[in-house]
Amino acid sequence: MADTLFTNVRVFDGGGEAPFTGDVLVQGNKISRVVKTSHGQASPPVLGARTVDGAGAFLMPGMIEAHTHFSWNDQPSLDAIQRMPPEEHILWCAQVAKLYLDMGWTSCVGAAAAKPRLDVVIRNAINDGTIVGPRYLAASQEITVPGGLGDTTQPHLPQPEFAFGAIVSGAEEMRRCVRMFAKYGVDALKINLSGESITGMPGEMSQFTEEEIRVCVQEAKAWGKRVQAHARSTWSIQQCIKQGIEVIYHASFTDTETLDMLEANKLAHHVAPGLAWLINTSHHASKWGLTPEVTKKMGYHRELDAAIESMKAMRKRGIRILPGGDYGFAWTPHGTNAKDLDYFVKHVGMSSMEALLSATAWGGPMMKMGKSIGYIREGCLADILLIDGDPLADITVLQDKRRILSVMKDGEFHRAPPLRPAHATRWAA
Ligand SMILES: [Zn+2]
Repeated sequence: MADTLFTNVRVFDGGGEAPFTGDVLVQGNKISRVVKTSHGQASPPVLGARTVDGAGAFLMPGMIEAHTHFSWNDQPSLDAIQRMPPEEHILWCAQVAKLYLDMGWTSCVGAAAAKPRLDVVIRNAINDGTIVGPRYLAASQEITVPGGLGDTTQPHLPQPEFAFGAIVSGAEEMRRCVRMFAKYGVDALKINLSGESITGMPGEMSQFTEEEIRVCVQEAKAWGKRVQAHARSTWSIQQCIKQGIEVIYHASFTDTETLDMLEANKLAHHVAPGLAWLINTSHHASKWGLTPEVTKKMGYHRELDAAIESMKAMRKRGIRILPGGDYGFAWTPHGTNAKDLDYFVKHVGMSSMEALLSATAWGGPMMKMGKSIGYIREGCLADILLIDGDPLADITVLQDKRRILSVMKDGEFHRAPPLRPAHATRWAA
């Protein structure tokens, strides 16, 4: 692995300050030097390191996605995801892993897999270099109840039929299920605490007993695993806080009591609302029969309004919310994930600085990596993007692959910067 010296770049270091002009040296897989420069005086070449003249490009930490499903196959239903045979499915996941890296997401948290071992196999293949992809945490299938979100079985087909989710009823079945996924090697158990309107069960509905949730958390902790919850209803969000479920996905329906509880425990939880799903299902899925009239009847417009109010309230209370929008459906295709940052600015009232921090510095703990990623600082791991443009002036540049000039993960270029004409003063967009 060659060392790399980036010169003449605008450094966004993840600390929340305005970017500065400087140079960044990467040695091995770490950032070893970050210096401010002035008047175009770049650092002298470093022996053994290639020099990349950034020509004023924006250099920032690789982005961190808090809610991904590599095995969702850009189809319009859970059934269509579920029916993909395992052989094609694992190849699909490998392609998606590469796509995330292409789009600047150097770390991703798996939020559930469509088959028991897809996430684990992909994580292992990335880690041993068999395929390319971001740093990855592998999830279980969605754990659900008979009749709940993820129970795709049909009563007229032979039982037990393989389902989208892992279906359990009662504490002992929950215990067995968690142990099974621990055996498979997941990093996290995904539990569906609330409904999902598109499946016929409203988001306000909760589907597990407190006892079943308690066993899930207790057993996961015994195996050193994290629990992450699909939690739209107020009751289910409160259960996450009371029972110590670290990752709260969606958190749409809150009240003052729930917000107070969350604020008092804000360092113990990660919240990722998945706004892309709500926005695009509500308003941009007509092509698949989900016209705004249909999705309004389903309850999505009301939920979207509630979720936006909840996220605004959380932001005011200093609860950090993270990008991750349930991408991988037909109307939320993989690779468009940076739309979440625009949604945070447009709908939640974040500044573009906050949106950028939510995708970088705030994500390290979500990846269980603390401050070793998400920053451009000496000693941090070298996950680095070079952007043609200024995301602080226009956050949407991060949606455009052509503007993401290069992607480095762990000190190695996944995509090296393109060749630039010798006398060009800027990158051609
Ligand atoms: Zn999800």
